[in-house]
Amino acid sequence: MNVFTRFTLVALLILSHSFAQAQDLAYAKQVVQTLASPEYWGRGYTHDGMKKASNYIAGELKRLGLEPLDGKSYLQAFNYPVNTFPAQVEVSINGKLLVTGVDYIITHDSLGMKAQGSLVVGSDSNHFENKDAHVSVTLASKLTWSVAKKVSDRLEIQLDRARFTETPTRFEVNVANQFVPNFEASNISAIVKGTKDPNRFVVFTAHYDHLGGMGEHTYFPGANDNASGDSMVLGLAKYFAAHPQPYSMVFIFFAGEEAGLLGSRYFVEHPLMDLKKIRFVTNFDMVGTGNEGITVVNATEFVKEFQAMQAINAEGKYLAAVNSRGTAANSDHYWFAKNGVPAFFIYTLGGIKAYHDVFDRSATLPFTAWENLFKFILKFNDGLMNE
Ligand SMILES: [Zn+2]
Repeated sequence: MNVFTRFTLVALLILSHSFAQAQDLAYAKQVVQTLASPEYWGRGYTHDGMKKASNYIAGELKRLGLEPLDGKSYLQAFNYPVNTFPAQVEVSINGKLLVTGVDYIITHDSLGMKAQGSLVVGSDSNHFENKDAHVSVTLASKLTWSVAKKVSDRLEIQLDRARFTETPTRFEVNVANQFVPNFEASNISAIVKGTKDPNRFVVFTAHYDHLGGMGEHTYFPGANDNASGDSMVLGLAKYFAAHPQPYSMVFIFFAGEEAGLLGSRYFVEHPLMDLKKIRFVTNFDMVGTGNEGITVVNATEFVKEFQAMQAINAEGKYLAAVNSRGTAANSDHYWFAKNGVPAFFIYTLGGIKAYHDVFDRSATLPFTAWENLFKFILKFNDGLMNE
């Protein structure tokens, strides 16, 4: 082979390598854009958002050539009660019709009602109320929504105090809520069988549910939380489907995380695999930023694995920082670790501040550390396979 041919081959190799990486990131962006689009309506409880998201993810797993974890179905159904806002949500304060999600939110456990009346100062200068109407108004520095499994006896309006600077004295509301006692959700799981030791498992997880929508015109996209984690786990599923490992590789997308880690609890209580045979679980939740690196929850519990991660980063300089954090019941790793399965939860740091609000959109998600985190995880997995 002459010098020119050799040069061309090396150049082609480098090109195809960076092409593969660019493709990984392009796929991740496509996944986030899809899951955070209005079609999926915040992957929650109205407009069939969560169900559409589960069909999309299961469809991707099938297309990428993965088998269902239990050999039968990608979906594992379970149910739970939830308060929803499927129809009109209209709020006026001091005679001004406000923009849902931007000027205000209805607290997740609110009771729907059609009412109007005056407001008086409540427990402090940030709280206003009409006791007879069961309506309260709170001035908030940040609007942060959630999911409620029950309905309270009142309607609470949270106003963004930076946008609404008057003293609230009058309200008019037309809000419909619907309590769903048995909302059906599904975890999604798939496997790439191991080549040497298929009964040992390495597991990657991310929740795909988010908060859903508030009324007919407002939804919470959940691009960072947690379409970003889904894009990481789908990216890993795509990679490992093409590169089978000695151990079986398992990919799980949980529902019901935002309602209180319900999907992961259901999975651990009704496992589709022997939990004792899991070598390690890595859970991703909010990994769409990263200019300040990552934090690893349970780093203090699984010291050997955390040291391996630190060594990988010291050598390859993938991430700006790999921070240690102790135990925390703040994502789906929790139920695994609580049941004796070694598990980390990784989230990225820095960048956008949007969280559980209408601003957590795919268009503004920076994906700063996505590619390097992906490579970092492949290295970490190499270590597990070579123990
Ligand atoms: Zn989350």
